[in-house]
Amino acid sequence: MTEPRKARVATVSLAGCFGCHMAILDIDERLIALMERVEFDRSPLTDIKTFTRRCDIGIIEGGCCNEENVHTLIDFRKNCDVLIALGQCAIMGGLPAMRNAIMHSQEPLRECLEEAYISGPYLRNTTRLIPNDPVLPLILDKVYPCSEIVDIDYQIPGCAPSGDIIFSTLVALLDGKFKGFERETLRFD
Ligand code: SF4
Repeated sequence: MTEPRKARVATVSLAGCFGCHMAILDIDERLIALMERVEFDRSPLTDIKTFTRRCDIGIIEGGCCNEENVHTLIDFRKNCDVLIALGQCAIMGGLPAMRNAIMHSQEPLRECLEEAYISGPYLRNTTRLIPNDPVLPLILDKVYPCSEIVDIDYQIPGCAPSGDIIFSTLVALLDGKFKGFERETLRFD
């Protein structure tokens, strides 16, 4: 009799800080047990840059702040049966979405870039140029949660979510027993 195949998992960091990927590593020694059941495909954890096969689970860190993020997220949706938004940046934009609050200017994106590169405190930009190389991905007008770009199947909240929550959620999904989170699990105080 042939062994059941391992579930294929892909992960990516969009507009995030990689803290959520660090949290995946916080699964610690249970990763060994998890690797008995899953294999990672496209992911910073494997350094595989493109999908080699369709995946069962895609895990997204970060929201979308530029056009490359959008293309990557759509590619994940196409190539993964189940898509998980991992952490507050993926779920609601998180820290990068603070720039969405700049609304009093006629050109909020320009105001944001000028403060980041020209006028902000502690800056010394003698050229007074904002990076504009054509190879840089086009920045979006604001930072978008993943669910505003594609359908998201599950959200794992937290900044970053704990390794415990990530592990238990993945195992429950693999067992087909995921029923949401206990209220106590989602207390962050
Ligand atoms: Fe980093 Fe927190 Fe955003 Fe995760 S949710 S990418 S840990 S800022």
